[in-house]
Amino acid sequence: MLRTTLLAAARSSACRTLVERAPVTRGLVARYVAGSTLDAALPVVDRLAADRLVTLDHLGEDTADADQARDTVDAYTRLLAELGRTGLAERAEVSVKLSAVGQFLPHDGEKIALENARRICEAAARAGTTVTLDMEDHTTVDSTLSVLAELRMDFPWVGAVLQAYLRRTEADCRDLAGAGSRVRLCKGAYDEPASVAYRDKAEVDRSYVRCLRILMAGEGYPMVASHDPRLVSIAGALAESCGRGPEDYEHQMLYGIRDGEQRRLAARGRRMRVYVPYGDEWYGYFMRRLAERPANVAFFARSLLTRG
Ligand SMILES: Cc1cc2nc3c(=O)[nH]c(=O)nc-3n(C[C@H](O)[C@H](O)[C@H](O)COP(=O)(O)OP(=O)(O)OC[C@H]3O[C@@H](n4cnc5c(N)ncnc54)[C@H](O)[C@@H]3O)c2cc1C
Repeated sequence: MLRTTLLAAARSSACRTLVERAPVTRGLVARYVAGSTLDAALPVVDRLAADRLVTLDHLGEDTADADQARDTVDAYTRLLAELGRTGLAERAEVSVKLSAVGQFLPHDGEKIALENARRICEAAARAGTTVTLDMEDHTTVDSTLSVLAELRMDFPWVGAVLQAYLRRTEADCRDLAGAGSRVRLCKGAYDEPASVAYRDKAEVDRSYVRCLRILMAGEGYPMVASHDPRLVSIAGALAESCGRGPEDYEHQMLYGIRDGEQRRLAARGRRMRVYVPYGDEWYGYFMRRLAERPANVAFFARSLLTRG
């Protein structure tokens, strides 16, 4: 119920104004977001890259006009040039939301997003790194997978996220378990109806394991995006039973969540990648993180009412 309310608020402009102006927000946002500019984020990446890999997200989603989509592409191009120049591209790639580069634009949205994503891939190729497409709500999955297929014809290393809470995802995992494919498997962060998604936590977890089994048994490169200790340990066991070494898959977690566990896995020789978001457009991302963590919500709501 609370999760549904917060995820609805993530798309409300009235709530956005309230949350953005509340004094308490800044401290909580700083836990999950590496800074509002590239200059602020790069030292964070540099520090993390000492023992972990990184994927950077220039925050933004649901872009409503073509100029804004172009600005986002420019921001990624600058970011990738900087990763190349500083040598960080060896340890850091980028994650892109297609809705930030035009997927929802009324005319030819998907085509515009494809062309914009192609420019980002070209910049990544110049820098010597990779791109992974984030996955948004279920209405975007077909479009995102079709953009992925187009991009992979020229850039076979482009990866994508699949969400275990969607009923269709086992089939998508089968389609994307082939050689060269990079799949980031997560549970899913949006409020989806029962007609398309498992809504019970235990069912989502079981689906995650079924999907992971398919990816680990396949020929691609599984990216295990979860902070859930049970799933982290199941991933290790599945990798071993499928004959995968530590270089043949990776764990991924979000910046600011279970940092100690991230360092522990890296110290044990596991490939560990941190998803690092930065930029001004943190509202939607931040609300999804709040929705995942009831303890944060209680603290945030109390502070909002008393000090906001
Ligand atoms: C690298 C990466 C990329 C992602 N990309 C996408 C995407 O493209 N599309 C999408 O829908 N979702 C994405 N997600 C989010 C994902 O779908 C989940 O919502 C999120 O990871 C929480 O699920 P979990 O597997 O960690 O399990 P959970 O059961 O939710 O959490 C396990 C434990 O992790 C800790 N934890 C989890 N969330 C928080 C939090 N917000 N604050 C503090 N502690 C927390 C808690 O200790 C919790 O008990 C991504 C996640 C990761 C790690």
